[in-house]
Amino acid sequence: MVNAARLKDAGQRNDVEAGMAKLLASEYCAEVVQEAFRIHGGYGYSKEYEIERLMREAPFLLIGEGTSEIQKTIISRGLLTQYKL
Ligand SMILES: Cc1cc2nc3c(=O)[nH]c(=O)nc-3n(C[C@H](O)[C@H](O)[C@H](O)COP(=O)(O)OP(=O)(O)OC[C@H]3O[C@@H](n4cnc5c(N)ncnc54)[C@H](O)[C@@H]3O)c2cc1C
Repeated sequence: MVNAARLKDAGQRNDVEAGMAKLLASEYCAEVVQEAFRIHGGYGYSKEYEIERLMREAPFLLIGEGTSEIQKTIISRGLLTQYKL
């Protein structure tokens, strides 16, 4: 994420670094929220608790602003270009 921000500040393209940051953060977010949801048991469905909102919103991060599959495509294309023999 820091690398992506530094490249952006320097006026350079940061597709690969931003894609890596977005992919990792959103996948971990979904995983952590899912685990937290399980720990809450049935309360996970109750709007009394923050986890209910997180459970609805975390999956969106896997889809919105470029799905994880598209991020992987962007990253792999970028790396193949950068490290071309
Ligand atoms: C609540 C919500 C709010 C949104 N807000 C906005 C907004 O404000 N502005 C905006 O512009 N858009 C918005 N979107 C749209 C969002 O960006 C798209 O839904 C998202 O980019 C996925 O595109 P899609 O729905 O066409 O899915 P598709 O592109 O049809 O993808 C469906 C599935 O196929 C996979 N897939 C697609 N192509 C490939 C490929 N080439 N290789 C491998 N896998 C692939 C995807 O990863 C996904 O799993 C919003 C969506 C939602 C649900």
